[in-house]
Amino acid sequence: MEKTAYIVGAGLSHYAGLPLQSEFTRQILAARGYRRGPSRKMVKLLDDFVHDVFHLRKAADPSQWPDLEDIFTFIDLSANTGHHLGPKYDPKQLRRIRRVLIARTIRMLHQRFEKARKKETSQWKELLRFVHKLDVGQARFISVNWDTSLEAVLTHCHPNASLSYGAGIRPASFGDHGKIRIVKPAYRQKIKVSKMHGSVNWLYCDSCRDVFWFPPEETLKVASQIVRKEEIGSATGLHCCNCNMVELSTRMATFSFRKALDFPMFRQSWMTAEQKLRSCGRWVFIGYSLPAADYEFKHLLKRVELARTTPPRILVVSGGTDSERTLRNYSGLFGRLVADGDTFFREGLTNKTIDLITT
Ligand SMILES: [Zn+2]
Repeated sequence: MEKTAYIVGAGLSHYAGLPLQSEFTRQILAARGYRRGPSRKMVKLLDDFVHDVFHLRKAADPSQWPDLEDIFTFIDLSANTGHHLGPKYDPKQLRRIRRVLIARTIRMLHQRFEKARKKETSQWKELLRFVHKLDVGQARFISVNWDTSLEAVLTHCHPNASLSYGAGIRPASFGDHGKIRIVKPAYRQKIKVSKMHGSVNWLYCDSCRDVFWFPPEETLKVASQIVRKEEIGSATGLHCCNCNMVELSTRMATFSFRKALDFPMFRQSWMTAEQKLRSCGRWVFIGYSLPAADYEFKHLLKRVELARTTPPRILVVSGGTDSERTLRNYSGLFGRLVADGDTFFREGLTNKTIDLITT
């Protein structure tokens, strides 16, 4: 197999049982019906916020909710400049709502992933077949998702290889009494994944600025870390292993139109992604529609593509009902480098497309 950069989006996580972005709100609010537990309390806080700010009645149908992009963008635009969003929500409150929304999303993604794994849906099996066939030594992954379904499947199918998110993002495990431990990779063979928008299994120290990553299947512990104990009653309170006093936190470039990408922990990912795009002969896009909000990533793709002496061979595996628009997005960015039926496939992961992209 030639060296290949796999650039993956939400469509790939969908194979692992995760909802598409259009279904996120409904899935997040599914916890309204829970009898107990932190998710129920989180959704209550979110319902109150949407009621206060967007004038929706409480327990309104998810289809009436504002877009998550709008919620995150409004919070960021106000809180990041030190402003209120209405009299009730000061920057501290807004950041709390943001954390709760992220924590609830992580829990929802985890639940959906576990459900698909246990049920072994047909899509799940397709995803496994693709990942099994990969030569991980030649594969380089660039993900715009912040869920860890890809990493969980990769480490499941290739148990003798260790995940690597690139230099400066250190593998760690959860220790006792709120401590974390740095761990050594178990295997020399690496599965290289760059995450352009951060990851739900990463925690960040605001003091020393180190980034730590935890096993992809332990995202619930990260979710518990994001929301403080006094807010919801489920926090674990993990501290940096360099700076004992400092609680670790998370940073993710969420569904906001203002993705805060100039953050140190993202810079490293973007640099390794650029190296991968330069060095790989083939760029394979899977389940990624090139949305307008990702303009900075699209600019990176275009910049690297133009700077190469030979252009990359581009293959696109698309699917779903929106593939016509996705094709237009790819044709708009890459012109003749992408051709419908020849290098652009609308049928998703099938025997044919899996063979094409793994050999
Ligand atoms: Zn630190």
